[in-house]
Amino acid sequence: MDPPRGDGRRGGRRRARRHGAAARAARGPDLRAPPPRPARVDPARDARGDLRAGRGRGARGRAGPRALPPARGPGRRLERLGRPAREAPEPARGRELVRRDGRPRRRDADGDRGRDAGRAHRDARRRPPERARLRDARDRLRDLPRDDRARAARREAARAGGRRCGARVTGSGAGSRWSNWSGCVACEPAALPAPASEAELAALVARAGTERRTLRVAGTGHSFTPLVATSGWVARLDALAGIAASDSARLEAEVWAGTTLRDLGEALLARGLAQENLGDVDVQTVGGALGTGTHGTGVGLRNLSAQVASLRLVLASGEVVECSAEREPDLFRAARVSFGALGVVSAARFRLLPAYRLHERVRRGPLAACLERLAESVAGSRHYEFFWFPKQDFVEEKALHPTAAEPDAVAGAKGERIGWSAHVLPSVRELKFNEMEYSVPAEAGPACFRAVEARMRARWPEVAWPVEYRTLAADDAWLSTASERATVTISIHEDARRPHEPLFSDLEPIFVEHEGRPHWGKWHARKAADLARLYPRFDDFARLRARVDPRGVFLNDHLRALLGA
Ligand SMILES: Cc1cc2nc3c(=O)[nH]c(=O)nc-3n(C[C@H](O)[C@H](O)[C@H](O)COP(=O)(O)OP(=O)(O)OC[C@H]3O[C@@H](n4cnc5c(N)ncnc54)[C@H](O)[C@@H]3O)c2cc1C
Repeated sequence: MDPPRGDGRRGGRRRARRHGAAARAARGPDLRAPPPRPARVDPARDARGDLRAGRGRGARGRAGPRALPPARGPGRRLERLGRPAREAPEPARGRELVRRDGRPRRRDADGDRGRDAGRAHRDARRRPPERARLRDARDRLRDLPRDDRARAARREAARAGGRRCGARVTGSGAGSRWSNWSGCVACEPAALPAPASEAELAALVARAGTERRTLRVAGTGHSFTPLVATSGWVARLDALAGIAASDSARLEAEVWAGTTLRDLGEALLARGLAQENLGDVDVQTVGGALGTGTHGTGVGLRNLSAQVASLRLVLASGEVVECSAEREPDLFRAARVSFGALGVVSAARFRLLPAYRLHERVRRGPLAACLERLAESVAGSRHYEFFWFPKQDFVEEKALHPTAAEPDAVAGAKGERIGWSAHVLPSVRELKFNEMEYSVPAEAGPACFRAVEARMRARWPEVAWPVEYRTLAADDAWLSTASERATVTISIHEDARRPHEPLFSDLEPIFVEHEGRPHWGKWHARKAADLARLYPRFDDFARLRARVDPRGVFLNDHLRALLGA
């Protein structure tokens, strides 16, 4: 997804030739590159990106919760949860700093640098020496098959530095600041609590209601819309992480919602299990990925929320309910994709597959040939997608198939690799971008893409970032972008350092014409009235939300506009 080499950015090529690290950054991550050199691990940068470094987490939080307690009041009828509706006024402290045009504010950037530098220095002193950490990481890498090494090296380097990439958090009380991965959304919450257990989370939510606070839960901040932004409380579930229980025979695992998909993938692999599919990256949390309907590609594969058999949800009252297709089925179908509007997901039970390897083939070529054989390519692969780079005018096609072969079977083959699904499906995205993505009915996909292509050729020929085309099977979650319809998703990317709004708002009407549903976590300008026309169960969702959260504890300005609340 990163722009190709020589993308025309100022001085890119010349500078890249002079400096090795800059060269790698300019052309984007190469998964088959040798492990990064120790010098690339920057403790100051790691400390800034480390959500866990926030103050206020005790030893209990670090250890993380172990087993799931029974849900309180499971199966209780939702009608009884309703209370007279009252608004939750914002507290006096704190400000929302939502920057939808993607331009950084000088004052914010400067303020951050000062605070971050101090924190980074303190954190770097507390950690074991960098050399020892890197030596440990290299020892762990030695036994891996060659093809998995580059990727594993990145993981180890990130872990050795204690980095949890994504949102930036400074402080945890008054004066704290939260911003998303790309930097286009920021807020100054009154507090950033990090509950150490489900019980603490439930108490926190109940307290937010009593104190009339807005509470938004954050994952790793990989959404481009202001879903998390609030001047109230931003709760972080870093301590609710890991696998609570697993059953390899039944191919199931109960997973805490603060677990990152990367950690989940490794933990499942160690148990001989794997997720059916993953998105383009694996740095999101389980709660965040489910919340926005995060998906990968594959004509027969549904989004990640469809892999879930049951959810544990902390409602606005502080009550923990468990829902599934059998127990509270409406709540289950609504909550699977609900961006924290119905409650906080504390854990999810996943249906899994036995661990499997994938054979990936990547090839470049002209767009015309790719479009000519598109139907065949989509139908002929478990996972298929293509990226069209408008400025350079070529496509990169990626197809993956399950295989029993070992990684060495394709050693040295250009554009091919074999590895475990958890390692091959996600990419590493180091260059920052902003993104808009729409889901259109599968049959409208090719026509919609051609309309986007025509407009980009006519008005946006300089965009170096790709347009991405993926497929997605229908599911039954009320607000899934593939709800009740087979889907094609088309994504537009723009460099995070450039304004993205003019590009996105010029292309958005094309998606609207094709009955497109916006990705909940990616830039869009749709409001409740537009969305109600696109989702048959939208009004049911809005009614259910009003019933389970009558005071609007989980509503920020963005959600009010989205849901017409
Ligand atoms: C580099 C990159 C690549 C991406 N690739 C893909 C892709 O391939 N496919 C795709 O579909 N999307 C993709 N996305 C979008 C991303 O997957 C979603 O925006 C996802 O929601 C981010 O997860 P997060 O953990 O960062 O959550 P956040 O962005 O922090 O939060 C997302 C939403 O989930 C809610 N939430 C978080 N945790 C919980 C919880 N425990 N309970 C209830 N609600 C919760 C938040 O309140 C918020 O509304 C990508 C984004 C980036 C930056």
